[in-house]
Amino acid sequence: MIRISCAACGQTLTRDGRWGDISEWDNLVAERCSPVAAGVFVRLPEDSVSVLQPDNQSRTQVYSPENAVSAHPEMVIRENWTSAGVDQGCCGSSGMDGPNRACTCGQMVATEWSDCYTQAEIRFLPDTIVVSE
Ligand SMILES: [Zn+2]
Repeated sequence: MIRISCAACGQTLTRDGRWGDISEWDNLVAERCSPVAAGVFVRLPEDSVSVLQPDNQSRTQVYSPENAVSAHPEMVIRENWTSAGVDQGCCGSSGMDGPNRACTCGQMVATEWSDCYTQAEIRFLPDTIVVSE
């Protein structure tokens, strides 16, 4: 079994799970559904970005970088992290501004999608976490 911890302070951020293959991740789920089952972590080989053009000034918004680790929302130990950065949405987090969850030590560690019109998913940032066996 594996679990994810904060690379900055070592605090455990998830319950125990197992690695899953990319075939266990479904990017086309309905809103409020998770693309990955509870108990499974899937490493995403590609980054998730969008090129935005507000005021004709192009900028790239990174929702999650390559090698991010996708997890079901139930896998997170909620008391060990907090909302951070730009965290907007309707009744949850839209994920549209990129990373929005930090460990309680202050280290940004993930992007969460939890709004009524998005999927329900956590993607851990690969450079800010430690995956332990
Ligand atoms: Zn931490």
